[in-house]
Amino acid sequence: MRRIAILGTGMAGFGAAHAAHAAGVRPVMYDMHDHIGGHTASYEFPGGWTFDEGPHVSFTDNTRVQDLLAANVEGKYEAFATKVNNYWKGHWIKHPAQINLHGLPPDLVTKIMMEFVEISQRTEEPTIRNYEDWLRASFGNTFSETFPMEYTVKYHTTTAANMNTEWIGPRLYRPKLEEVFRGALQPKSDDVHYIAGFRYPTHGGFVSYLHPFRKIADIQLDHRVVKIDPKERVIYFANGAKADYDGVVSSIPLPELVPMIAGAPRDVVEAAERLACSEAVIVNLGVDRADLVDAHWSYFYDRDICFARLSTPHLQSPNNVPPGCGSLQAECYYSKKYRPLNQRPEDCIEPVIADLKRCGVLRETDKILFRQAMHIPYANVIFDLESMPATKLVHGYLEDIGIGYCGRYGDWAYIWTDQSFVSGENALQKVLSKV
Ligand SMILES: Cc1cc2nc3c(=O)[nH]c(=O)nc-3n(C[C@H](O)[C@H](O)[C@H](O)COP(=O)(O)OP(=O)(O)OC[C@H]3O[C@@H](n4cnc5c(N)ncnc54)[C@H](O)[C@@H]3O)c2cc1C
Repeated sequence: MRRIAILGTGMAGFGAAHAAHAAGVRPVMYDMHDHIGGHTASYEFPGGWTFDEGPHVSFTDNTRVQDLLAANVEGKYEAFATKVNNYWKGHWIKHPAQINLHGLPPDLVTKIMMEFVEISQRTEEPTIRNYEDWLRASFGNTFSETFPMEYTVKYHTTTAANMNTEWIGPRLYRPKLEEVFRGALQPKSDDVHYIAGFRYPTHGGFVSYLHPFRKIADIQLDHRVVKIDPKERVIYFANGAKADYDGVVSSIPLPELVPMIAGAPRDVVEAAERLACSEAVIVNLGVDRADLVDAHWSYFYDRDICFARLSTPHLQSPNNVPPGCGSLQAECYYSKKYRPLNQRPEDCIEPVIADLKRCGVLRETDKILFRQAMHIPYANVIFDLESMPATKLVHGYLEDIGIGYCGRYGDWAYIWTDQSFVSGENALQKVLSKV
């Protein structure tokens, strides 16, 4: 029997375990935490509050993954058409703002529309060197500067000029001119969000999708990897344990993984150090009222509001809150490279509450029944201009030494839960084919 080690018990780790199981191999999974799930862990707090490690919903259109997850919760999931909106300077705007300009200041709307007309009449495609160029070319200067460029600084912690365009995919909707006009002239617009609908487990939070996978692997929790010797094929853990392997697949973030590899060359270690990622403080609040925001999540553009995104876990499953209550998750972003977190996560709670009151989500009369802050050290890969060559170098090295990599922080990609799962499957198959 080949000894297959999987590092991490998140979506990618379980994708790898699933592929190993399908190949008749029982892998050993290691995680530094005392629970499984990685970013998709869920926490049930006293009083009946459930919060995921940052808001997580499943919106995959991969029917195989959909079916696997549905079977894992025995078909007990909630399903919704996605409602998403935006908040900007006192205005609530349906998402995406570019086709929902109705009700915004007339001078701003006029300028944005004039620029969309100019873009539509352009005969030559402009040069795109970075994300800012892409935004200006797609939406015009005024819209870009008012909305996505502001959001970029809040969410990605750096400027659009410092980012590449590799990660955009379907994330930003490029409207037809008539959609911009229609959305400016009337209050209703078509639903065009790339996430049309989503599923979420009825009970136990998002991690319920993973629990039945536990039986297909030996799971070693509280095992933090501190060193990997790829020549001897040994993994060393902080608790003093060590494990031999024939094949290994890792979902550990690359900037953590590379310095742990015995003999990693200096240029590869330095490349891994250049990989930037945002970190998040998630402020979780439980409120004595359910009618808080009529959206599953909302984007906040104003820089003087400390969070970039707000979600409503009680609208994902009613079992995430006690009866009659509502809950909020606010995401505040930082990064070691661009905006260091210089305070304790708990210090974000009161500013978030104050900003929620300023924008009318919370009322003075609301009772906050639960409050808590979570720190997520790796949130979103920052696709700054250094990231592509550095990622390529690191991946090339891992392939040379036979360490499989997968998931959001192994592939170093802006991928979702289902894509992380598939990434784990693919990485495992590649490793198995070589041992
Ligand atoms: C705020 C936020 C919201 C999101 N919302 C959604 C959403 O709604 N829908 C969606 O599809 N996707 C969402 N995502 C993306 C999703 O979280 C990821 O795609 C997915 O969870 C990544 O899984 P993974 O297994 O690759 O990584 P992880 O879940 O990070 O797994 C890595 C594992 O490695 C372990 N590990 C790390 N270092 C070590 C070590 N030294 N030793 C041992 N173990 C170690 C960790 O404990 C962890 O369990 C969101 C992400 C964030 C940050």
